[in-house]
Amino acid sequence: MFDSAEHTPDETTADLYWMEERLSGGQDPIAFGANNSGQGVGGSLLHWGAFCPRPDPRDLALESETGLGRDWPFGWDALASYIEAVEAVVGVSGAMNYPWGGSRFAYPPVMRNAPAHAMEKGAKAVGLTVSDAPAAVLSRDRLAGTTPFRGHCINCGACHQGCRTGAKGGADNSFLPMAVASGARIIANARVIDVERDVGGRIKAVIYRRHEQDHRLDCRALFLCAGGVETPRLLLNWGLGNASGEVGRNFMTHVATQVWGQFDADMSMNRGYPSSLISEQMVRPRDADFAGGYLIQSLGVMPVTLAGGFARGAGLWGAPLVERLRNYRRLAGIGINGECLPHDDNRLTLSDEVDDLGLRKARIDFSYGENERRLDAHARKTLTALWAAAGAQDIFAVARSAHTIGGCRMGDKSDGAVVDADGCSVEIDNLYLCDNSVFPSALSANPALTLMAVALRTADRFLHRTRTGDF
Ligand SMILES: Cc1cc2nc3c(=O)[nH]c(=O)nc-3n(C[C@H](O)[C@H](O)[C@H](O)COP(=O)(O)OP(=O)(O)OC[C@H]3O[C@@H](n4cnc5c(N)ncnc54)[C@H](O)[C@@H]3O)c2cc1C
Ligand code: SF4
Repeated sequence: MFDSAEHTPDETTADLYWMEERLSGGQDPIAFGANNSGQGVGGSLLHWGAFCPRPDPRDLALESETGLGRDWPFGWDALASYIEAVEAVVGVSGAMNYPWGGSRFAYPPVMRNAPAHAMEKGAKAVGLTVSDAPAAVLSRDRLAGTTPFRGHCINCGACHQGCRTGAKGGADNSFLPMAVASGARIIANARVIDVERDVGGRIKAVIYRRHEQDHRLDCRALFLCAGGVETPRLLLNWGLGNASGEVGRNFMTHVATQVWGQFDADMSMNRGYPSSLISEQMVRPRDADFAGGYLIQSLGVMPVTLAGGFARGAGLWGAPLVERLRNYRRLAGIGINGECLPHDDNRLTLSDEVDDLGLRKARIDFSYGENERRLDAHARKTLTALWAAAGAQDIFAVARSAHTIGGCRMGDKSDGAVVDADGCSVEIDNLYLCDNSVFPSALSANPALTLMAVALRTADRFLHRTRTGDF
């Protein structure tokens, strides 16, 4: 479990990120490293931003609505009770009268940081509705059932380095302690490197390496939940579940463009919970020339991360970059999380290079399609107008993507899906996949809440099988 005494909130030495090499290609290569996945008991939820919007029901059926993208194998009604269950377990704060779904939050909103106040001002001026954001962050202390005591948010701003008070919800302080209380055993610091199969092709054991020793663990069923890159990578390395050739295809991310500007006032965006304001108004913009839409959120980014983003996404380098960063205290930004359609050619494959465990490294080729480019252009215009109305000067955009999604699509076997609607491999009936890799489409909402809800649904469907003698 995350123990703050073992980690540092210093962004230059934080050790929660998955930093092993991944090769990145295509016209819009994805930046891997700290921004894209984590490691340890709790995974990326140890250092996620806890921005927790619900999936928009229309996004689950985007293909039916627009002819583009891909429908999920189930709709909102099949997911709603699991979304509510996740929100209750993890603890979500938000506005009393949330404009996009009424009053549903157990905790009052966390305090806004300075960029959130600026975003509210700009939004009012341009006629955009905003609200305190849904955040998996406790605004009050909590002691609940089999989960550990969690203190309230102290607005330190170190969410991406792991939360010191436990205010931020993640698997480590919610579902995992509950699982342990029900008999689960966690084997930390272990890497699964192989599986064994019986003559019928079912998985019968996993091999993992821990402290340089290999161990074997028998299993009746295997739930592979290694994340949007590692799950397809492991399946490809093992030659497993890929008769359709679909493993690794339809790799997605979110369009996560940001707009930055300089303010007269002190913004000190390293302080406070970063993503405290949201607008869902652009989930279906009236003047859109693209399918789907995007969320808008206020930001708070630490200096070194910011410098990397500016260099990569805005081409700032040398003296101009240093000049921007000298004024860090007066800089502030807003950003989007935008739909990304699945494309066959956006694909994770294996490179010829191997890692220290002897597994071939992942290579991800990714390019925006026409839909992503149009959405991006729309967002740049909207955000720039909003930021100018908020009083920002020297406004500039930063190209950026976020999250690793797809590669093991959920759907119908007849349609080449890798897993069925219950998360079970269409080829191996005791292999389940349960992470961002199974998303058939990216959705405009940030992924974690949906992912946890899908995980609960998958668990429910599996238990149903065991109860009905189907397993
Ligand atoms: C910096 C950052 C900020 C984010 N902010 C938000 C946000 O504000 N809102 C939101 O909705 N989403 C956010 N996300 C995304 C969210 O965290 C992910 O969508 C979610 O955690 C993905 O879960 P996962 O189970 O697919 O993968 P992960 O959380 O990456 O979990 C995979 C786990 O598998 C382990 N693993 C991998 N390979 C092996 C192996 N061979 N053997 C053993 N273990 C293995 C890894 O160590 C890791 O613990 C953010 C992500 C990052 C990185
Ligand atoms: S800002 Fe709040 S949620 Fe984020 S790390 Fe600090 S205490 Fe935790």
